[in-house]
Amino acid sequence: MQLPFLKAVPLLEAIETAGFEAYFVGGSVRDSLLNRKIADVDIATSALPAELKKIFPRTVDLGIEHGTILVLYNGVPYEITTFRTESQYTDHRRPDNVEFIRSLNEDLKRRDFTMNAMAMDKTGNIIDPFHGTVSISDQQIKTVGKASDRFGEDALRIMRALRFVSQLGFSIEHGTFAALKKQGHLLESIAVERRTAEFEKLLAGKYVSKALPLLLEAGIHSYLPGLAGKKKCLSDLARCGTAGFTIEEMWSLLLYFMNLNDQEAEDFLRKWKLPVKKMKHCIHILKWLDFRLGDNWDAESAYHSGKSVMLSAERIFHCLAGGEAVLDKLEALFDSLPIKNSSELDVNGNDLISWFDRKPGPWIKEAVSDIEKAVLLGKVRNTKAEIKEWLLKCNQSSGKD
Ligand code: ATP
Ligand code: MG
Repeated sequence: MQLPFLKAVPLLEAIETAGFEAYFVGGSVRDSLLNRKIADVDIATSALPAELKKIFPRTVDLGIEHGTILVLYNGVPYEITTFRTESQYTDHRRPDNVEFIRSLNEDLKRRDFTMNAMAMDKTGNIIDPFHGTVSISDQQIKTVGKASDRFGEDALRIMRALRFVSQLGFSIEHGTFAALKKQGHLLESIAVERRTAEFEKLLAGKYVSKALPLLLEAGIHSYLPGLAGKKKCLSDLARCGTAGFTIEEMWSLLLYFMNLNDQEAEDFLRKWKLPVKKMKHCIHILKWLDFRLGDNWDAESAYHSGKSVMLSAERIFHCLAGGEAVLDKLEALFDSLPIKNSSELDVNGNDLISWFDRKPGPWIKEAVSDIEKAVLLGKVRNTKAEIKEWLLKCNQSSGKD
């Protein structure tokens, strides 16, 4: 058993001592059978939330109506969820109501895929009523029960199937794929934020070049923000060797294949409801990728793009142009810059106003930009005194003209 499980065993013991059942469930059980490193563990129990609160003095209600509470143990937060069934879905996304139950099997039955519907007890014994271990050894993603019913209940599972392909490299079982293909349109009823979360996991997956063609084959792109009619762009993305790319790099590369200008790129990312900061970062990378496609880096472009954006643009450039990106040379170029951003410049607008006895205005921005350039090119050192002297000299010579 991996360490995160061992650390949480005392929690299962405490619940059992109080007379209830408790198991590890969900992704951590799946990942440990796949010998993948697990981060956090989820626990399911027959104890009701009120009963759990009697066992553990320090809890936080996470979604008490869904039966999840957070227990802090040795400083680690654990999500413990009461066994439940989800009756009737009328809107393809949320169960009409949730019912707490005492049966583990019934709880596992409501889960999406057989590989996610296993439990593990405190001794490492696997409880596997839906043959998840077989699916794992066959490397197959298969719904628990009839696929069309399960996607009809909650269409987000369609995106989840595809993102697991991308993360695990598995295939989708024939019947599950046929249903997914038929029911893609139901995704339109799913909140954009939830589709985005799964799509980002898909983009970041190790096997994205396997997942994207399946997504396209099933026509799912038609139900994703701004991607209807963009089959070619997504196949181009699938063909790139993007292993190790950050999520921002993936979005930027997609924007590049979509051939969008800054404004169109922003409108597209807005549809996905990405946080503004992330959106700006992606558009910044796209802009510097555009620069790199026609030029090479120098002190000024390294400075204005910033280290991380420059390295991202370079990685994408090499993905498009082929060859090995020499990132350490670029890092050295950036590290050797006399200033790394405008706040490091030893003069500011107030200095300029007092030196030249002029009113504030657009001339300040221009002067700062000239100073930055001179400092970056090594024409003047970044000290107040030397910059002042350099500016006065420049003024004199321009006065002579
Ligand atoms: P990850 O490693 O990305 O967290 P995960 O399988 O743990 O993957 P979670 O979203 O954390 O995914 O969900 C935990 C578990 O809850 C799943 O393994 C699955 O059993 C169940 N589950 C999650 N979402 C759904 C859903 N939409 N429908 C049915 N069961 C779900
Ligand atoms: Mg999880």
